[in-house]
Amino acid sequence: MVDGSGLRNADLDSALAEAREAYVARNPKSLARFIEAASVMPGGNTRSVLFHAPFPLGLARGEGAHLYDLDGARYIDFLGEYTAGIYGHSHPVIRRAVEAALDGGINLGGHTMLEARFARAVSERFGLDLVRFTNSGTEANLMALASAAAVTGQRTVLAFHGAYHGGVFTFAGGGSPVNAPYDFVLARYNDGPGTVAAIEAHAGKLASVIVEPMMGGGGCIPAEPEFLASLIAAAHAAGAIAIFDEVMTSRLAPGGLAGKYGLRPDLVTLGKYIGGGMSCGAFGGCAALLGRFDPRRADALPHAGTFNNNVLTMSAGIAGLTEIYTKEAAEALNARGEALRIRLNALCHQHGAPMQFTGIGSMMTAHFTSTPIRAPEDWAKADPRLKELFFFDLLAAGFWIARRGMINLSLMTGDAECERLAEAVEEFLQARHPLLAVAAAGT
Ligand code: PMP
Repeated sequence: MVDGSGLRNADLDSALAEAREAYVARNPKSLARFIEAASVMPGGNTRSVLFHAPFPLGLARGEGAHLYDLDGARYIDFLGEYTAGIYGHSHPVIRRAVEAALDGGINLGGHTMLEARFARAVSERFGLDLVRFTNSGTEANLMALASAAAVTGQRTVLAFHGAYHGGVFTFAGGGSPVNAPYDFVLARYNDGPGTVAAIEAHAGKLASVIVEPMMGGGGCIPAEPEFLASLIAAAHAAGAIAIFDEVMTSRLAPGGLAGKYGLRPDLVTLGKYIGGGMSCGAFGGCAALLGRFDPRRADALPHAGTFNNNVLTMSAGIAGLTEIYTKEAAEALNARGEALRIRLNALCHQHGAPMQFTGIGSMMTAHFTSTPIRAPEDWAKADPRLKELFFFDLLAAGFWIARRGMINLSLMTGDAECERLAEAVEEFLQARHPLLAVAAAGT
């Protein structure tokens, strides 16, 4: 295919091949680590999202806003551990909280004063009547869906195409063979009438509707508040439980996105940064539902987990939410992210590139299309090679972002770091302008 500038589609392939070769040449120790790891772990991997061809970078350490790879290169961390790393890598308050927990001894096998304090901080912040803790966001969603199934006696769950709710709740490409065994019905994100119709069609048989109020892993696609409100109302009319997965999005406003939009889902799930950077998840919401887990009840639902109240997470989580990521800090971080996204989009526009950054506040994702994005289907047709090129170019320039184009601010990425990212994106737009034009012509 030849476009107006005379460049061929193959030029994009060769630019990508060059970027990959340069990456391989720069990272011999990462390659050695990968080969060694692959002899004891399938694909050298224990967390699918971290793999990318030809091999992922090995990291040596992190400090403040920076990461260092095994070959000694330094990166500004604009991934923020997929939203969990809001506190940076060595926040003194988190360190003190973890040390205080260690001082008191870990693995006590009983209650401490910490878990109710953490529960109070979480429930007050996110408007939950009651809350319970888990070890991950996946587990929080497992428990939320299980609660809904238990109280409704049904096993059908409505979720959205392209959504991600954990390792066993993956809906990109229609689903995953390792998804938890529910009967899933998938609707199109931000399609209010279609979603309401799908809920009505399953009325009486539906256990729950699960939605992220902004799709995170699905490409940082904000939900329209009316869509969310109609979905809650339709779920209730159909006798189903409305679940907001705020594992990622709770950081986007002082009370999460449900708080920001004034919505009251029956259940909310949390995770990521919420435990101060330690393993953590939580599910909470209305007393009628959460009360079912009260062990004093004859018909109590069980919810077990050796590490659910582990003191490292409880202590770091309290410190994080009450001393560092306060409501004011959340407002400020998201204002910084909002300004950065607006600036990056202005650069894309200025350079006439088929590129945009979607998101809210401190979370955003780069997409290589000019089409407005309201659902993952809207970006899925873009040329995937551009995302890969963007990733390798940013790595070469010293920026750590997700291979899929996700960028998250942390409390360590201040104005200076955002300025440098904007410069790097502008360099990419200038250097790759002809290739972006080829891709635009091809779509
Ligand atoms: N829900 C959402 C929206 C997520 O983004 C994630 C993790 N990326 C999860 C659930 C699962 O959380 P975890 O990785 O802690 O199991």
